[in-house]
Amino acid sequence: MSWEDNVRRVIPYVPGEQPKDKVIKLNTNENPYPPSVKVRNILREYDIDELRLYPDVNGGELREGLAKLHGLRPEQVFVGVGSDDVLAMAFMTFFNSKKPILFPDITYSFYDVWADLFKIPYKMVPLNDEFRIVKEDYYEENGGVVIPNPNAPTGVEKSASDLEDIIKANKDSVVIIDEAYVDFGATSLVTLVKKYDNLLVVQTFSKSRAMAGVRIGMAFGSDKLIKYLNDVKFSFNSYTMNRLAVAVGKAMLDDTDYFKNIVGKVVATRERTKVELSRLGFSFPDSKANFIFATHRTVPAEDIFLAAREAGIYVRYFKKPRIDNYLRITIGTDDEMEALIRFLKSYLAEIGELN
Ligand code: PMP
Repeated sequence: MSWEDNVRRVIPYVPGEQPKDKVIKLNTNENPYPPSVKVRNILREYDIDELRLYPDVNGGELREGLAKLHGLRPEQVFVGVGSDDVLAMAFMTFFNSKKPILFPDITYSFYDVWADLFKIPYKMVPLNDEFRIVKEDYYEENGGVVIPNPNAPTGVEKSASDLEDIIKANKDSVVIIDEAYVDFGATSLVTLVKKYDNLLVVQTFSKSRAMAGVRIGMAFGSDKLIKYLNDVKFSFNSYTMNRLAVAVGKAMLDDTDYFKNIVGKVVATRERTKVELSRLGFSFPDSKANFIFATHRTVPAEDIFLAAREAGIYVRYFKKPRIDNYLRITIGTDDEMEALIRFLKSYLAEIGELN
């Protein structure tokens, strides 16, 4: 017997690389644009004396601002340290059944990691051959449901009405809709939290709001769901949201014009990139997110991934069943995407696959 026999052993989630060198970074779905100048102003003028004091336990004005934005009360909003923190808390809080929770087989690869960590039984439900979620697959008995919309890493959107059908069919379990990428073109279910007390909608500041480095995530749900979530959070760490994060988060939230502007630019660049990639022999499910999940007609994804990396362009490659011939390419600036397309053209020409 040794102490090692009592260690909680888990296989952790592997985040995308954060290289130190200057590279074209299209591998972790960050926003290529900086946060609003209002964020800079807050930081410049911040009264550091406030940092002596503990922050508001509920995320203060950030939580209130989020409630107002969506026509909800603050009691229907929860904020955390990125949506990873919010999702982890939600798994711990809501998934305590002996029945398996359900999520797609191709999806955010943190879900099975949390399930293992918290010893939650789970079943991965296969997407169909077009990488689409089949709603009827989620009508069986379960201990909870998790669906990202749009899904990652495919970028495929599920319609709001199909998702509502899934929620209706699962009155006895909590349904989590992970809307990390929703602002880039899918329909949010936030307003439905007033209608269904078992629906938790999770969002983040890391993608459309260009603040992955600050770590802000949020959940919207019924008063009851949010209360249960808070009970677990306050059993773990009361002060998750630091004062600076709350202040800069609120400043970013308030600049709706800038938010719309950068999201619009990413979407326009995505649509242009789709055309260019098709011309080069790539195909992909239609993405409503800030990335494209692409496969080439003849050249293995792993070869392209390695060659691009060598050329200083980082994209994401998952060596996993069903998706090991795909690249997940984050949408950067127009210049960055042009550099990617230039690289792909010359690489494909070099190996005789440009036609
Ligand atoms: N959900 C999905 C589907 C994601 O792709 C990510 C980003 N890795 C997250 C949640 C977590 O993002 P964050 O913790 O930065 O909010």
